[in-house]
Formats: sequence, structure tokens, C-alpha cells
Amino acid sequence: MDYFKYKDNQLFCENVPVAQIAQQIGTPVYIYSTATFQSHYKKLVEAFAELEPLICYSVKGCSNINICRLLAELGSGFDIVSGGELYRVLQAGGQADKVVYAGVGKTDEEIRQAIEAGIACFNIESESELENLILLASQSDRRVQAALRVNPDVDPKTHRYTTTGKKESKFGVNLERALKVFEEFGHDDHIKLNGIHLHIGSPVNTVEPYIQAIKKALVFIDELRDKGFTIETLNVGGGFGADYTTGEAPIAADYAAAIIPLLRDKGLRLILEPGRSISGNAGILVTKVLYMKQGGDKTFAIVDGAMNDLIRPALYEAFHFIWPVQVADGFAVENRSNTIEIPGTQKMDVVGPVCETSDFLAQDRLLPPLQRGDLLSIFTAGAYGFAMSSQYNSRPRAAEILVEGDSFRVIRRRECYEDLISIEK
Ligand SMILES: *Cc1c(COP(=O)(O)O)cnc(C)c1O
Repeated sequence: MDYFKYKDNQLFCENVPVAQIAQQIGTPVYIYSTATFQSHYKKLVEAFAELEPLICYSVKGCSNINICRLLAELGSGFDIVSGGELYRVLQAGGQADKVVYAGVGKTDEEIRQAIEAGIACFNIESESELENLILLASQSDRRVQAALRVNPDVDPKTHRYTTTGKKESKFGVNLERALKVFEEFGHDDHIKLNGIHLHIGSPVNTVEPYIQAIKKALVFIDELRDKGFTIETLNVGGGFGADYTTGEAPIAADYAAAIIPLLRDKGLRLILEPGRSISGNAGILVTKVLYMKQGGDKTFAIVDGAMNDLIRPALYEAFHFIWPVQVADGFAVENRSNTIEIPGTQKMDVVGPVCETSDFLAQDRLLPPLQRGDLLSIFTAGAYGFAMSSQYNSRPRAAEILVEGDSFRVIRRRECYEDLISIEK
């Protein structure tokens, strides 16, 4: 799962005690494990080896340039959703010809930059975006390839805010309309529309929605090929799960076992866009208890990390396992569970200093007795953690630390007060 483990009652990231990092760097702090990123990426490569897919790490979940560089060094491509992400990837040494670009609202400027960079594929989300891409491609002599994002109308059984492949979603086009798009634009001179793109939601913790979506896509691809269109790629998107609780997500080999048989001998290049499954378990957020407080029957642990640092609990009611960095005897845990039953634990809410009722990191959570100064680790915070952080309440963003073996380094310094106002005029 990852390289965050308790040894002698204290939490380590690889070989570095988490408390040591917190002491030197302060809190709140994001801590990432190099080995976890590497092993998750390699497991995907191995699991899908038979199909030799293009694996495009989805940048938006964890986008620090050092993380992009780590993935580029492993040979990964990149799934981007903005010009800013393209910039990051190129600065990190990523190869443009392994970049795929999705998003419903690409601006002319972003599209031109991506054409000039020579990206592998635009994932097109609407007819009018495609018309615009054709116009902009006609003004360049670059070869432009595109895939049409289709909505297979399957339910990924995840949170409604992270469901993206149903009919009524803003992403992609319906299968019925998709055929018309090919009929109108499938033989264009300026762009090569030769792929189908799916991204059904996230996290998708069962393989069935992928099977359903791919089967529907294959029927559509057969129909397109019968009509004389050339379809070379099938991009099945991202959404593979991460272990918020131990063993919650299928492993790479499970997804591969479901997907590979469907695509064998189909003459399609497979593209994958994993984000969370690579970065989720590779990061934790460490925060310090500022105060303990009683409110009616409730106990609150007020910590120095907040919704501006990690918004997932407030935004999606997401569960993150939380546990002290240093524990008393009997409190070391191996499994991360949402029904932990250890004698001596006590129910509490873990909340931040931000002035919002939704500023919580956990509610009614059983935790060991806590006191002022204790460090807590919020696990599986590598994806959509720092990347979604803000300065709300004029809180400088947390530092990001990358651990490798016995050592660690700051890959983004903690913001300071000057950073809050330095670009205000
Ligand atoms: C966000 C996103 C992904 C990655 O999703 P994960 O759940 O992080 O794997 C992949 N493809 C597209 C188009 C996305 O928008």
C-alpha cells in the first residue's frame, strides 16, 4: 500500500521518523514517499504490460514539479487539464509527445500552446471545442491528434461530485451524439480524430464500471470502423482507487485482469490516466493539536491543519484515516479502518481553525487520548490534498516534503505572510 509504517510506536515515512520532519519543518506539512510513487507506477506498468499502454500520470491530484519530474524519470506520460499543467510537465522534463489534454473549457491560448508543444492527443469534450481545435490547428503546421470523450452512461458508484461519465454530466458527449461528431469531423484535414476517451469518475473501487464502459466503447468503435473511420486509441481515463482504508481499492493487477481481456487483439493503443492510485497513498498531511475542547457531549481536537490545507472531508465528506504520529503502548496500528476498536480510544471531531462549520478533518472519530502538542497524521492525502489547498482565512499554504530512503528535502517551502500579499497591488 505505502511506505508509512509504525516502528517502535512512531510513524516513519520510509526510514525517516515523521516527527523529526515535523520538528524541523513545522506543521501543517505534507510528506510524500518517493518509494510509494515509484512502486505504484511500476505496479501499473507491470500489470498492464501485455498491452504496452501509454500511462499518463494525472497531474491535477498532486502536481508539484518534483513529483512530475519523478514520474517523468520513470517514463510516465501525463494527463493534463490546463495550460498551467502543461507548463509544469514541460518544466519537469516531461515529454510533450506523451501528454494528453482533457477539460471542458480549454482556452484558445491553452490550445495553441499545446499544439506548439506537440502533445500526443487532445481529449475533446464537445462539438464546439472540436470546431475550435480544427480552426486553431489549421493555423499551425503541427500534426494534431484528438480523441472524443464519450459518456458511456455508467454509474461508477462513487460520490456524486466525482461522478463524470453519466449522461447528465458536463464532461464528454453522449454515444448518440458521438457518432454525429465523427460523421462531421472524422475525416478532417487539420486534425486526426482517431481515438475514444472515457473517464467515468473517481475513485472507482470496483472493476465492473470499467468493464461496462469499455464494452460500450468497443461496440461504438466497431460501428465507427464499419463506417470507415480509423480508430487507433482507447483511453480509459483514471479513477482507479486508493486505500483510504486498508485494502479498500482493487490493486493494479485486479483492474488489469478485468480490462486486458476486453482489449486483447482489438488493434487499439490503450491509454491510462491514473492519478489518485499513484499519488493518494504516497502522501500524508501532518498536523499538530492546538487545543482540546468540550462542546456539549462532543470532544474537539482543534488542530493547525484545516480545510484550506485538505478540503476533501468538507467537499466530499471524504474519509481520511487519522492517527497520532507517536503513540503510547497498545495504540500502534497496522490497519487503517473506519471502524477501529481499540480499548481506550475516545470519540472526537478533528477540526481546524478556519471559520466554517464544514472545517473538519474527521467527525465522531475514535482516537487515542490527545493533548496539546500531539502530532496527527492524516493518511492518503497525496491526491487532491495540497493540490486543492488555498490561502483561505489568509493561511499560508503548508510545506511539501519529499522523503527518499533515509533523507528528506523540501520540495515546496511553507508560504509566508509576504506570499499572501506579494502579488496584490
Ligand atoms: C482527474 C482525472 C483523472 C485522474 O483521476 P484519478 O481519480 O486521480 O485517477 C484522469 N483523467 C481525467 C480526464 C481526469 O479529469
